[in-house]
Amino acid sequence: MKITFIGTGAGSSLGLKRVKSSILINDKVLLDLGPGAELRLEDLRIHPKALFITHLHIDHFSGVFDYLVQRKIRQIPELVIYSPKGFSEVLNIYTRIGNNISAKIYESDLPSGKIDEMEIYSIQACHSIYAVSYIISDGNTRVLYTGDTKEPCNAILENIKDVDLIIHETTCVDDCSIWGHTSIKQIFELFSNKRIFATHIPAEIEEKIISLANNKINIAFDGLSLNV
Ligand SMILES: [Zn+2]
Ligand SMILES: [Zn+2]
Repeated sequence: MKITFIGTGAGSSLGLKRVKSSILINDKVLLDLGPGAELRLEDLRIHPKALFITHLHIDHFSGVFDYLVQRKIRQIPELVIYSPKGFSEVLNIYTRIGNNISAKIYESDLPSGKIDEMEIYSIQACHSIYAVSYIISDGNTRVLYTGDTKEPCNAILENIKDVDLIIHETTCVDDCSIWGHTSIKQIFELFSNKRIFATHIPAEIEEKIISLANNKINIAFDGLSLNV
């Protein structure tokens, strides 16, 4: 499975060093598309078939609206979007006020779908608003992407046993559970014996997070691509 980190910043991340959340799987499936990430995606000249959104915080989905404009202009087939409930309401407002954008949308509490060789399903995460984590399997490899969550989150901990790789949000150094997030210290305690990549990192504190990861937790960065 090919994994490309398009955007690895948290909502609080400033500027272009780490744009907001987005991961591309096998060049076909996007997991989240935060602001700025759509520009990095356009630079790759790849047009994924589907987008799976973890939750409706702006740093996880607002890049899609500008990206839909580009797809419309270039007559690229409609993006298929899977999301918790609420996404189409936002898209409808954009179209009602005069934007010519469209997508094929499937909304549900636990979005799931099959895109070519990949099966994608979701479990409920533990965030400050309703959010899901995604498990992606291509027959050879299983990956879990947490999206935003605090830990310990039982649904996630129960599902990591048979995955080959965990992509976990890491938003602070010490304790950010009050905002529904996970710290690098918790990641180290819970997952340092697993194959894991940390993402959703505020650019301003990345040095501290990298030093606490102590080479045991891989820290993702924008543009990183790997085969699992
Ligand atoms: Zn976020
Ligand atoms: Zn969030």
